[in-house]
Amino acid sequence: MRADIHPAYQTAKVHCACGATWETRSTHGDLHLDICSNCHPFFTGKQKLIDTQGRIDRFKKKYANAPAMPPKKKLAAKKEAAARKEAASKPKKAKKEAAKA
Ligand SMILES: [Zn+2]
Repeated sequence: MRADIHPAYQTAKVHCACGATWETRSTHGDLHLDICSNCHPFFTGKQKLIDTQGRIDRFKKKYANAPAMPPKKKLAAKKEAAARKEAASKPKKAKKEAAKA
């Protein structure tokens, strides 16, 4: 290694939001993380909502008194429209076939 061109590679403490801390080495200094392998759902295997700002609670509060979803009319309307289209296109075909014959 050449002298005086490398940054200092000192020990650094890592602090996670879950409270876990450990030591590593870094040129930057101490690290502050939101999530680490001790608390991330991928490593813990538990389903967990990462909701640090209370957004889910706010959403639930906002829509707590909302009326229930109406029945799905769109799908039935689409099917009906498709059936109508098909029925409308059949006579044309019949006419074409009649013209050929
Ligand atoms: Zn953590």
